[in-house]
Amino acid sequence: GHGLMQGKRGLIMGLANDKSIAWGIAKALANAGAELAFSYHGEALKKRVDPLAAEIGSDFVVECDVSDEQSVADLFTKLGARWDGIDFVVHAIGFSDKDQLRGRYADTTRDNFLMTMDISVFSFTSVARHASAMMSNGGSLLTLTYYGAERVMPHYNVMGVAKAALEASVRYLAEDLGKDGVRVNAISAGPIKTLAASGIGDFRYIMKWNELNSPLRRNISQDEVGQSALYLLSDMSSGVTGETHHVDAGYHVVGMKAVDAPDI
Ligand code: NAD
Repeated sequence: GHGLMQGKRGLIMGLANDKSIAWGIAKALANAGAELAFSYHGEALKKRVDPLAAEIGSDFVVECDVSDEQSVADLFTKLGARWDGIDFVVHAIGFSDKDQLRGRYADTTRDNFLMTMDISVFSFTSVARHASAMMSNGGSLLTLTYYGAERVMPHYNVMGVAKAALEASVRYLAEDLGKDGVRVNAISAGPIKTLAASGIGDFRYIMKWNELNSPLRRNISQDEVGQSALYLLSDMSSGVTGETHHVDAGYHVVGMKAVDAPDI
């Protein structure tokens, strides 16, 4: 690695398996010399996360359910017991009832709306508050979002509403924490086949659509998100905060793809 993250320590939240976006980011950070801790959700995932963490030189793995405020507080207590401070956090967490990631947004239930907002939006705000208290030398916080926040995408439904709130919270947190030198940004990733994505209706079709219609005429990889995350988490982006950075092969700039127009 080129040592861009040498001497920096941080937390990766949301590693489930080697398809996770969190894994692409973790590999890029470790390769650049960062020291990493991981949090995962549910004891069943420990047997997946432990070996992945070990593969990139970390034995610092902590369980955390972000829907439980005490669990979030305990996570940062454990971090503080081993490290005197942190430099970055990656929040790669989202959840909704998959029965409501198809059909109409209008049919979203109150319970699922509140749960989706709690796990996918409020958790980042809570994490930002705990993490920034450990960032006496400044730091960088990163979350993951999707274009469904900006435009209506098929089946994304309540998760699109949650991502819009998440992107707004990135801007509010950037203002709150900026005076302490803590930067807050999001990556809006193009579709990637992960565990979470497999819950979204017609996901294969959405991937194909993006491949055919993005300026680069292809989809993006976990590793490409990792490289962009490295920029946002390192001092390379020291002047950047409150930003939603698209890593989507350019899909978000296209209004209509160029075609050989028929005579009309
Ligand atoms: P993933 O399934 O690998 O990761 C989602 C993670 O959220 C899992 O590790 C899961 O354990 C965690 N999680 C769910 N509920 C939790 C809770 N209560 N407490 C703690 N953790 C919890 O899928 P992914 O696609 O890598 O998702 C990571 C992030 O990227 C999500 O925010 C997702 O919305 C976002 N994203 C994904 C895509 C895509 O196409 N895959 C595109 C844009 C953005």
